[in-house]
Amino acid sequence: MGYDFSTQAIHAGYDRKGNADASSVPIYASAAFDLEDSGRGQALAAGVEPGFEYSRVANPTVDALERRIAALEGGIGAVAVSSGMAAVSFALMCAGEGGGRIIAPTNLYGASVDALGDFLPQFGIHADFVHDINDLAEVESLIGPDTRAIFAETVANPSTAITDIEPLAALAHRHGIALIVDNTVPTPYLLRPIEFGADIVVHSTTKGITGHGNAIGGIIVDAGRFDWTNGRFAQFTRPEQVIADLDGNRRSFAGAFGEQAFIKRIRIKYLRTFGAVQSPFNAYLSLIGLETLPERVSRQVATATLIAERLTHTPHVVKVNYSGLGDTPQYALAAKYFPRGVGQILSFLVDGDRENVRRILDGTKLFSYVPNIGDARSLIVDPVNITHREVPTDYRIAAGVTDNLIRLSIGLEDAGDLIADLEQAIAGAY
Ligand code: PLP
Repeated sequence: MGYDFSTQAIHAGYDRKGNADASSVPIYASAAFDLEDSGRGQALAAGVEPGFEYSRVANPTVDALERRIAALEGGIGAVAVSSGMAAVSFALMCAGEGGGRIIAPTNLYGASVDALGDFLPQFGIHADFVHDINDLAEVESLIGPDTRAIFAETVANPSTAITDIEPLAALAHRHGIALIVDNTVPTPYLLRPIEFGADIVVHSTTKGITGHGNAIGGIIVDAGRFDWTNGRFAQFTRPEQVIADLDGNRRSFAGAFGEQAFIKRIRIKYLRTFGAVQSPFNAYLSLIGLETLPERVSRQVATATLIAERLTHTPHVVKVNYSGLGDTPQYALAAKYFPRGVGQILSFLVDGDRENVRRILDGTKLFSYVPNIGDARSLIVDPVNITHREVPTDYRIAAGVTDNLIRLSIGLEDAGDLIADLEQAIAGAY
């Protein structure tokens, strides 16, 4: 479209014409859509004519969200799903289907570690974990004939460690494997991974995209550049009945959809089969949230930076994790990928023991004790007990998730009020 990000956040993917001229995207609370006549019905079912049939596969409100986020990420298409974990699971399964392996770091969100390390193996998809995804030699040493993809979070939670996407994408592509990234923490406002070579981008829209802690959702965005016919991905080249043409001839996803093979497979196989569909109401809330994404995130980044700096001088705080703060090894990565800041998440280590951490959590008055991020409200949590509970101890410790770590997600309250609240909670805990 050529418009600036903030313009696209308000307008992309929606046309008032054909929607009763409604200026705000309407909620299409309809399970099914009239096929009109038998010819159109068959064409819709065969996927040779665009349109809506049944909301498990596509819905006009959800479609507007998909188009808008695809535009904001610079992808060729997107599929919205019922949660961030549905987006992560579908993307990993779609790449790893049929005995594939995925390389991933141990500092992923807890449920993603559990999926890759414990649950997806039950479906024949296995993981090769590394502690540092930016250690390209180690990553390359793990690439074998069954490797299908590298998966990483662009900014890890709660350490805020940054993935060096560009060389990782180049390495993946040299070996014919895809780079899938979870861009939840920064949101597309702070980082557009496709511009640095990522092939598939997933989000928990529950977080910064929706921005108000009021709707669970997820999305998968396809850059449309990866060659799924390079011999590693039989699922895209095998003819299938579900996408047979009007004459009943089976087609393959790559043959039928070309550059859209991956995102079409997500919709036609994964969404249709597993049914983890995003509701039109949640899509509407996400669309409303997106309208203020640039304003919200830039203010949250400014406040998070102030708080991170203040915490470095606060008694009992022994370390602050906020990439780009000070002269850390991640400083150059922050400057390269995140000129607008790494996001609203930060974490810090305190001295003392679990009891001190408990008193800090219970002593804050403004911060909500909540296992979420990216809300308009500021949130506090102890990852070891809540968000990273399912991560094996050695992975957890390598990711810096120790007993005395506290994570903050900074909201839209006044920075001075938040700092005062944290300082009184920390001082009162000792
Ligand atoms: N990815 C990241 C980085 C997350 O932090 C989360 C949730 O905290 C998820 C995925 C899962 O998202 P959801 O809770 O929407 O399923």
